[in-house]
Amino acid sequence: MEREIAWKSYTDETLSEVNSLSERYKAYLSAGKTERECVCEGIKLAKANGYSCIGKAIEEGKALKAGDRLYFNYMGKCFVLFIIGSQPFERGMNIIGAHIDSPRLDIKQNPLYETDGLVYMDTHYYGGIKSFQWVALPLALHGVVVKKDGSTVTVNVGEAEDDPVFCISDILPHLGQDQAKKTMAEAVDGEALDIIVGHKPLKGEEKDAAKANVLKLIKDKYGFEEEDFLSAELEVVPAGKARDMGFDRSLILGYGHDDRVCAYAQLEAMFSIKETPEKTVCCILTDKEEIGSVGATGMRARYFENAVAELMHLNGEDGELKLRRCLSASSMLSCDVSAGFDPAFAGAFEKKNAAFLGRGVCFNKFTGSRGKGGSNDANAEFMAKCRKIMDEGGVKFQTAELGKVNQGGGGTIAYICALYGMNVIDSGVAVLSMHAPWEVISKADLYESFKAYREFALKA
Ligand code: MN
Ligand code: MN
Repeated sequence: MEREIAWKSYTDETLSEVNSLSERYKAYLSAGKTERECVCEGIKLAKANGYSCIGKAIEEGKALKAGDRLYFNYMGKCFVLFIIGSQPFERGMNIIGAHIDSPRLDIKQNPLYETDGLVYMDTHYYGGIKSFQWVALPLALHGVVVKKDGSTVTVNVGEAEDDPVFCISDILPHLGQDQAKKTMAEAVDGEALDIIVGHKPLKGEEKDAAKANVLKLIKDKYGFEEEDFLSAELEVVPAGKARDMGFDRSLILGYGHDDRVCAYAQLEAMFSIKETPEKTVCCILTDKEEIGSVGATGMRARYFENAVAELMHLNGEDGELKLRRCLSASSMLSCDVSAGFDPAFAGAFEKKNAAFLGRGVCFNKFTGSRGKGGSNDANAEFMAKCRKIMDEGGVKFQTAELGKVNQGGGGTIAYICALYGMNVIDSGVAVLSMHAPWEVISKADLYESFKAYREFALKA
């Protein structure tokens, strides 16, 4: 049973929709290279589409009405959008949820040092990376430095045409004999992923003069001192924009498709809903998925549940029991990327149950590893309902597992939301080179995912 290639069915009109959606996505992906930037850009779009801040509604104790569009920004690192439905919350919501954090290198708290005439910043990688992929390519620095007085300095270096970039060096092949004997996991040590940030000594300085020069430049441009790195969140990411890939421009090469491609498809799905839905529709864009959904802005935190409780209060549906009923009666698509079948590494996949680029949104009944360990494993009844919604909505979809049995595995936020007793299933875009600095997706899958999330939001 092979699933159809989505491209084959597209009319000229559909193709132009695919292309314009892809252009908007590339702009979002290029502007949102950290979770904070994704929140910023996402809320800008939400406001332009008629969403207003929940905080204001709560402050004013304003009663909700069906059709209200609200956003909830939590600590600037995750956010939730709601469209209030005509039914009470207690009947359940339709939820689409993705994550906006991506693998990267985080700058350490005491990062700066000079050795042998080069100045470095020390990093600690975030999420599952292959260290050897991060050397010898242009890198940018994004993030915030918060000073003791509470003021925040925003840093973004390496993206503008005339910006400098940073880089981690690698050994030349001529002298790479020792490295070549190592396993790929050991070839570049995680501790060795330090970016070169300078080299020119400050006149009049004797010791660490190049480091002193870097600190002076930072002080002049951003107004912060070395000690301020203690309270900073600076992320090293690949420098440059998302781009079309292939002669036919059918693919997109970009940093952070996992999981911003699903996040953006969700946003577009929300903005495309002009009617007032029966059930309240909710779009979660969470942080920290790549390190286990931990922390105050990860899916395991209660920010989402608290936001729903606040809204139910404004809607005159108070009390713990009603909140529990609302959450357990809800249905959710956990929207996260899937491993695209890669002909170059065919041995890692089981072809009948693999996600192929261009065959549409991919449903993963379960993820996990070694006997489905750590997965959500959605109910057959719920998968049947999703099939029906997709078929009736004309959405091209496929189903897959993450690779061969016992080859490895992975997880998403699905099992966390399932703790409320709601039906949850994973669905998303197939990606090549997932977690590499530059990942690949098909424009057709972006489009089908957008359609899938819209249909689910309205019909589940
Ligand atoms: Mn993911
Ligand atoms: Mn991931």
